Amino acid sequence: MTSSTSKQTVPVQKALLHVPPLEELKDVLQKTLSVNFSSVDVSLVDCPDLTAKPWSLAASGICGSSRLADVGGVPNLVPLVDREKIPFFDFDDIARQCELPGAFIIGAGAGSSRFVGVNCELMPNVKTASVTDTGHNNRTKYAKVSEEDGSCILKEYNSKEFSLLANLHLSEGRPGKVLKVDASCRTGSDNFVKVMREGLTHHYGTKPVGIGGVFVIQNSKARVHVMPKFSEKPLDTDDDVAQWLRFYDMDPPLTCLSVFISHDPGLDLRVEHTHCFSDHGKGGHYHYDIFDSQVHYTGYFTPAEFMFRIDQPAVTHTIGRD
Ligand code: ZN
Repeated sequence: MTSSTSKQTVPVQKALLHVPPLEELKDVLQKTLSVNFSSVDVSLVDCPDLTAKPWSLAASGICGSSRLADVGGVPNLVPLVDREKIPFFDFDDIARQCELPGAFIIGAGAGSSRFVGVNCELMPNVKTASVTDTGHNNRTKYAKVSEEDGSCILKEYNSKEFSLLANLHLSEGRPGKVLKVDASCRTGSDNFVKVMREGLTHHYGTKPVGIGGVFVIQNSKARVHVMPKFSEKPLDTDDDVAQWLRFYDMDPPLTCLSVFISHDPGLDLRVEHTHCFSDHGKGGHYHYDIFDSQVHYTGYFTPAEFMFRIDQPAVTHTIGRD
């Protein structure tokens, strides 16, 4: 593990991840998903054009120099928001800090309340600027709670700044070999991502395997939360956090941007984080599907070579990490 300080004087730690052969990962995921879903097919495919619907990504693929970033963390939000971290982060800076300027970034984070006007969920989906290519394609969206009626509002996010925390997958945005995962009819009690993550943990133990990707939920509503405005009273327990968050049962299809890691090598990581968006105006933080017997998941995933821990909070806790 190495440490450095970026131009923003933000501490950055870099850890090497275990990258199993794709054939092996395919078998591990097939096995663990089959215990939890009645129909499962994991295969190795050429990444399709992920700019097309329903994926709607800002680059055609998720391959090339694949890496993860865990930025900030829940301790910046809970028990009370750290206003120094709004706004604080920038996707172009994150790409450089992860030694991949111009990276294509997807994942789950917190939007800038300075830009949006209120605390919100962020679905990062952006091709950042590099030295040679200053253009970037930003298809990031955010979800907020309507002040009028408490409903969820999903909108385009035309900014590169963000706040507080994010779990990100970075790549060159190229096509390449990826894992295609198709699973339907859930028979286990855990959500789709947790099943894959814990399957990797079971197989690889303390060798950290990090994964990023995109998947679509079809044929079932999903339980999703959206953060409302910052709490003025301290959120001291998971129950306090759950009471503060707004939960919704959202209609399919939902496109989900997901990052997960099988083992935390001592970096105080959030081990899984998935945010979703749609064409029907809803999105947020994915928890689980509602109609287990009907749900159908399809996704594309790739293993990451490195984990970058950026601006790790000095004081930590385990509240609010679901
Ligand atoms: Zn989230």
